[in-house]
Amino acid sequence: MRIVSGIQPTGNLHLGNYLGAIRNWVRMQDEFTAQGHECLYFLADLHAISMPHTPADLAANTREMVAALVACGIDPDKSILFNQAQVPQHAELQWLLNGTARMGWLNRMTQWKDKAGKNREGASVALFTYPVLQAADVLLYQATHVPVGEDQKQHLELARDIAQKFNNDFATEAAPVFTLPDPIIPPEAARIMSLRDGSGKMSKSDPSDMSRINLTDDADTIMTKIKKAKTDPEPLPSEKAGLEGRPEAANLVGIYAAMAGTSIEAVLGEFGGSGFGRFKPALGELLVDRLAPINARFVDLRQDRAALDTILAKGASRARALAVPTLERAYAALGLVRG
Ligand code: ATP
Ligand code: MG
Repeated sequence: MRIVSGIQPTGNLHLGNYLGAIRNWVRMQDEFTAQGHECLYFLADLHAISMPHTPADLAANTREMVAALVACGIDPDKSILFNQAQVPQHAELQWLLNGTARMGWLNRMTQWKDKAGKNREGASVALFTYPVLQAADVLLYQATHVPVGEDQKQHLELARDIAQKFNNDFATEAAPVFTLPDPIIPPEAARIMSLRDGSGKMSKSDPSDMSRINLTDDADTIMTKIKKAKTDPEPLPSEKAGLEGRPEAANLVGIYAAMAGTSIEAVLGEFGGSGFGRFKPALGELLVDRLAPINARFVDLRQDRAALDTILAKGASRARALAVPTLERAYAALGLVRG
C-alpha cells in the first residue's frame, strides 16, 4: 500500500487544525508505516497559488506547517514529508494529464463552482485545473490509497477517470501507466468551534484571539482562554442528548473527548451534573498537558529555518526518486522524445 495526502500550508495553526487535520496524518502514519506501508505527505504550495496570495506569507507558512507537522508527531524518517515546489514532477505530470482531462469533467467540479462563484472570467486558470494537479499528485506515486474527506471525493473520482482514460488511450491493459487510487475515509475528525461562539468554527481568520487555542499558546494563555470561553449557566448534562441546543457546552465537551481520546458519553459520565467551575479547569489542564510537548517542539522548530529546510529537501529527494520512473513512462507513452 502507498498512501499519499496533501495539505495547504497555513500559518497561525490552532487546536482545530490539530484535531481536525494534523492528528489524522499522525495516526495514519503510525498505523500504516507499522504495517510496512509507505506514507507520502506533501504541502500543497503549488495549489496555494490558485488563489490570490502573498508570496512572503506562502514561504513562511510552508515552513511553519512543517514545524507544526513535525512537532505534532509526523516523523520525517517514517513518512516522506515534502513540498510540491521541490518536486517539479508534479507540475510536469499535470501538463501531461491536461491532455487527457476533459473541460466537461472540470466544469462539473463543485469546488471550482464554489470558489470561482459568479466571477468565472476573473478566476485563475490554476483554480480551474486544480483537480488535474491533484490527480498528478497521487498518480505520480502510484498511490493505492488516498484519504479523502467528503469535500474531496469528487476530485479523487476525477483522478481515477483521468488515470483510466490515460491507460486506455496510451497504455496496454497488461502494462498500465497509472494505478487507480482508492479512497480511504480518515478516522472521524473533530470539528472544533470558536471559544466565543459555539455556532462558528474555530478559525485562524477570526479577529478575536480569544476564540481559539493557538499551537503557540503557553500554559497560562490556554488556562485563561478556557476560563473565559463562552458557556451557559446550566451544569453539564449526564446524557449526550442534553447538549442539544447548547453549542458552547457541546464544543467544550467535544474538545475534552477528542483530546483525551474518549467519547462524549464518557466525559459526561465523569462531569455530568457539574458546573463549568469544575469542568473548565479540568479541560484547561488536559489541554496544557497534551499540548505542552507539542508547543515546546513547535516554538523551537519554527525558528530553526535551516532544520526545516533540511527536512523538506530530504523529503523532496526521496519523493523525486519515487516520481521519476512513472513520469518517464508517461512521457514515453505519449510519444514524447526524451533523448
Ligand atoms: P481560514 O479561516 O483561513 O479558512 P482555518 O483556520 O479554517 O483558516 P484552514 O487552513 O482552512 O484553517 O484548514 C486547514 C485544515 O484544518 C483543514 O484540513 C481544515 O479542515 C482543518 N480545520 C480548520 N479549522 C478546523 C476546525 N475548527 N475544526 C476542525 N478542523 C479544522
Ligand atoms: Mg478554512
